[in-house]
Formats: sequence, C-alpha cells, structure tokens
Amino acid sequence: MVVLIFAKIFPLKLIEIWKSQANIKKQNALTRKLKVSKLKELKLIADQSHQEVFSELSCLDCANCCKTIPPILNDNDIRRLAKSLGMKEKEFHMAHVRIDEDGDRVMAQTPCPFLLENNHCLVYDSRPRACREYPHTDGNQFAENLRLHAVNSTHCPAVFHILQRIEKHLTSS
Ligand code: SF4
Ligand code: SF4
Repeated sequence: MVVLIFAKIFPLKLIEIWKSQANIKKQNALTRKLKVSKLKELKLIADQSHQEVFSELSCLDCANCCKTIPPILNDNDIRRLAKSLGMKEKEFHMAHVRIDEDGDRVMAQTPCPFLLENNHCLVYDSRPRACREYPHTDGNQFAENLRLHAVNSTHCPAVFHILQRIEKHLTSS
C-alpha cells in the first residue's frame, strides 16, 4: 500500500517541480556545457538518468507533449494512421495534417485529436515515429539532440529532470 501511494505522489511531485523551475536560459547554458563532455561518459549518464526518471514519472500523469507539440508525420506514419482509423490517406491528410513553419508535415490540431481524457493515446500501436522517439533522451539520441533538450525541457518534465540529474552527476564527479 505504501508503495502504491508513493508511486502515485512522487511522479506528480516531479511534475510540480518542473512547472516551478523549468527555465530555457538555464537549460540552454547546461546543454552548451554538455557539448564539451566526453561522449561515452555522457551517453552512460544520460541513459542512467533516463531510466531513473521514467521509473519515477509516468507519462500518463502528464501527456504534455501530446497537448502542446504537434508531432512530425512521415509517409509511413500517415499510411499507418489512416489504415488504423479506417480512412483513406487523402482523407487523413485533409483532416489531420498541416505544414508547419519549417515545411514539415505535422498533426494539424493541438492538443492531438487522438489524446483521450485519461491521457491514453487512441492510436497508440500506430502512433507516429516522432511520438515513439520523444523525448529523445535514451541511447544515441541524447547526444544527437542536445540543442533540442533545452527547448523540450520547457514542455517535458522528464527532460527537465534528466538534465538536472546529468548536471548533478557531472558537477559531483
Ligand atoms: S514524454 Fe515528457 S511531456 Fe510527454 S508525457 Fe512523457 S513526461 Fe510528459
Ligand atoms: S498520436 Fe498519440 S502519442 Fe502521438 S501526440 Fe497524439 S495522442 Fe500523443
């Protein structure tokens, strides 16, 4: 019982800390520092921090990415999503795709129309690749997306806490 209560309260506390402390200037400064870190060491620390944070924080308590960031859609995503919804690709395109300021095809609506009230995803098994890979903090993705992490830390509590833990690790070693 204690474990259940702890598991429910702790992730919400991480989300509250993120809301009160996320600051893009601070995270930009941190990610600039990380660029000069040894890549192998950084990958190990990032992986460890990613595992830790996601064992403490459930995306189902958050869903902020689905509420605020329209995912990029590639050809396969559109094909898979249209099929899973029983729509023709053209119909899906008309209903759910727009071109953003960078010229990418993205989900037209924000919050995402497939986000359910309980924060589950209606098209989870067919979700876009961008949704599967977000927030790009595990494996080689962490070092490849350093500039993105500062921006994402204002959208995603997990990114914020992963960066905090990496900073703490690097300053204590
Ligand atoms: S990936 Fe980040 S922003 Fe998205 S639901 Fe999980 S914690 Fe929230
Ligand atoms: S497709 Fe699913 S995972 Fe992706 S933004 Fe929409 S609700 Fe979130």
